Amino acid sequence: MIASVLPTYSRAPLTFVKGEGSWLLEADGRRILDLGAGIAVNALGHAHPALVAALTGQANALWHVSNLYNIPAQQKLADQLVDKTFADTVFFTNSGTEACELAVKMARKYWYDKGAPDRTDIITFSGSFHGRSSAGIAAAGSEKMTKGFGPLLPGFIHLDFGDHDALTQAAKSGTVAGILVEPVQGEGGIRPLPDACLKGLRDLCDEHGILLMLDEVQCGMGRTGKLFAHEWAGITPDIMMVAKGIGGGFPLGAILATENAASGMTAGTHGSTYGGNPLACAVGSTVMDIVSDDAFLAEVNRKSALIRQKLEGLIATHPDVFEAVRGSGLMLGLKCKASNLDVVNAGYDQNILVVPAADNVIRLLPALNITDDDIAIAIDKLDAAAAHV
Ligand code: PLP
Repeated sequence: MIASVLPTYSRAPLTFVKGEGSWLLEADGRRILDLGAGIAVNALGHAHPALVAALTGQANALWHVSNLYNIPAQQKLADQLVDKTFADTVFFTNSGTEACELAVKMARKYWYDKGAPDRTDIITFSGSFHGRSSAGIAAAGSEKMTKGFGPLLPGFIHLDFGDHDALTQAAKSGTVAGILVEPVQGEGGIRPLPDACLKGLRDLCDEHGILLMLDEVQCGMGRTGKLFAHEWAGITPDIMMVAKGIGGGFPLGAILATENAASGMTAGTHGSTYGGNPLACAVGSTVMDIVSDDAFLAEVNRKSALIRQKLEGLIATHPDVFEAVRGSGLMLGLKCKASNLDVVNAGYDQNILVVPAADNVIRLLPALNITDDDIAIAIDKLDAAAAHV
């Protein structure tokens, strides 16, 4: 008999009943150190007092009104995002996948309104992940996600990283509306796109009038030590997807865009019942207040250096288990020699959560405000886990 929850996840035998900071309480009483943060979602850890206050304060005032009316909390968060980024305008969603849907629609509508209705192709790259909707799986294109779900949404050109000839060829074709890329691939195994490549993509887009669309769902909101990962490369996109960390655990996503890129999205062209609701935006606004602060981001970078140094030590101690550390800020990947799933499972036994990714990598995506003490405990636990692999 099928489980009452559709069994699309193979779940670990763990049940959490409470969270505080970087720690989760298992139903059996164990305290477990959370280095996954709900896959880069709990940016400020669990039950951050400012987020709890923002959520309960808003819950006591007003939960939901339709987007047919003005929503002050939504307006406030949009202003904060516009103030701190390249963007002129923001649309709020409930998830990264929904942000992907709008990114694709926005790019295509842009060219339609410019009198180029055939310019509909979106270039994407191998190893990418943009969500599990029909557009999301078609965008990523991997067989693992698309098999059995056809016919797929057409209009995606899938390229391998580093295949410059194919990229230039496609860009010249005149059918490309946008290039969609994660500055740091998350599900793909914490694979950062070198700054020079991101600059190169920006130049290519400028040369051919293509829209640069960044997926910062996992790598954005302070995760890499800048508010958004593309800032490291000194470029700006035309369209950007945001989700995960922006809600700190409350479902919230967003599409940020320049006025030009968003010019096709006039009244009636897109909508969402819940997107930008008062509860999500009150929390998101508080996350933005905290994470966009320069001193906070400096701490993310300091802790990143600390963890990386300790991880290098772990690799030296366990050369049969770990191979290399990669990533940026507190979006770190440990490429494993042993099976990454064995390392994740050994972590469970040591009361620590890390997350597997493609390319035999384990992801370390701790709360951005993890303490130095918890970092030290994490390294001890990973050491013990590696010893048991
Ligand atoms: N894009 C990236 C880079 C992601 O990592 C994810 C989720 O893991 C998504 C999009 C989809 O986001 P969501 O699961 O919120 O729909």
